[in-house]
Amino acid sequence: MSCAGRSARTRGIFALVCEQHRLAPQTPSIAVKRSILADRAMAGDQNRNRIERAGDDFVIVDYRQGFSYPVRLSPEVPWYTRTTSRGVQMQRIGVLQGTYLGIYISNSCGFWYHSPALNCKFCTTGLNVGVNEVELKDVDDVVEVAQTAKTESGVTFIHFNSGYQTNRDLDRAAPYVKAVKSRVGGLIGVQLTPSRDLWKYDRLIDLGADHFSFCYEFQNPEFFAMICPGKEKLIGQKTFLRALEYTARKLGKGACSGEIIAGVEPLEDTLAAIDMIAGMGAFPTVCIFRPTIGSDMDRWPSPRYEDMIVVYRHLFDACRKHGIPMDVTPNIEVSLIVQPGDTRYLADSSLATTLYDMKLSLMRKVAKPYFWWASRPRRITASEELRA
Ligand code: SF4
Repeated sequence: MSCAGRSARTRGIFALVCEQHRLAPQTPSIAVKRSILADRAMAGDQNRNRIERAGDDFVIVDYRQGFSYPVRLSPEVPWYTRTTSRGVQMQRIGVLQGTYLGIYISNSCGFWYHSPALNCKFCTTGLNVGVNEVELKDVDDVVEVAQTAKTESGVTFIHFNSGYQTNRDLDRAAPYVKAVKSRVGGLIGVQLTPSRDLWKYDRLIDLGADHFSFCYEFQNPEFFAMICPGKEKLIGQKTFLRALEYTARKLGKGACSGEIIAGVEPLEDTLAAIDMIAGMGAFPTVCIFRPTIGSDMDRWPSPRYEDMIVVYRHLFDACRKHGIPMDVTPNIEVSLIVQPGDTRYLADSSLATTLYDMKLSLMRKVAKPYFWWASRPRRITASEELRA
């Protein structure tokens, strides 16, 4: 039975923590862009957090406030260095990102191959194609690694993502989704650039997808166009939002996610994005901006701590107001982002918060049989060839 046939209520308890109508051109002038980038760059060096060695250990040093925090590296996963039956090292197929398995279907992104390049300014993917991972993955390799991660690391969620695949994104994902769901089982997430062909989402759900997330990054159209030129020119903000709205309606509350970056665009835009995503019945996944070395924004400053507190407190309130379930899916701890449940620590003590806590606690209990059922390997008859 497809996900589309399940009740919205039951499906809505799946929430993963865990990235635009083509707006009338409101792109800032080149002079404005340069001035924004220059201001941010000048502030960059004063605001960095750094990870440093302290003897055999590591610490994160916050130079702004003079704090340092000890950190512990997780031990290497035993199966990473083993090879698949086809002789490919398993860590070049998929890696654990917290407790889930992340598989980059292809780390080649079409935005990097335009002239001039249309890559997102915070991204370094185009510099790393084929470095850490196999560029295009064989379906049998993916199944073998997913099975190993499930058996040996207790993985319950497999997440597929990719750079821009020239509007063939969902087509490329379909065979992997079907193979893993039917031969391994588990909950399956898909994070790809969106399609205007909304029927393809129905097919992906029939093939076993339980979750979709859409990285539209910025609510403010000027920042969206300036920092994500490929997404602006070749996809459009509206396409992201339409796909998010569609899949959120299909899969139920909390099953899908809109992913944004906080700390670059004005704070009020980030808060508006959170309200809009939660209002659609989706989960707002908010990543704190980190300047990645080698990216076009590597001298852009990290955001202010005080602003991020406002953002995450607002996230909790928006999810509560819209009844979005958080941290209901069992065994998902994400290493890359702030867990939604962590925002609970920022919430005001109130009757509304207490009632929401009670509701979530009940949902976690009630949801267990559903997640067991949704995770089982099963026979799938839908075709992985996406043709209308
Ligand atoms: S879509 Fe943007 S963020 Fe994603 S890989 Fe391509 S350039 Fe990087």
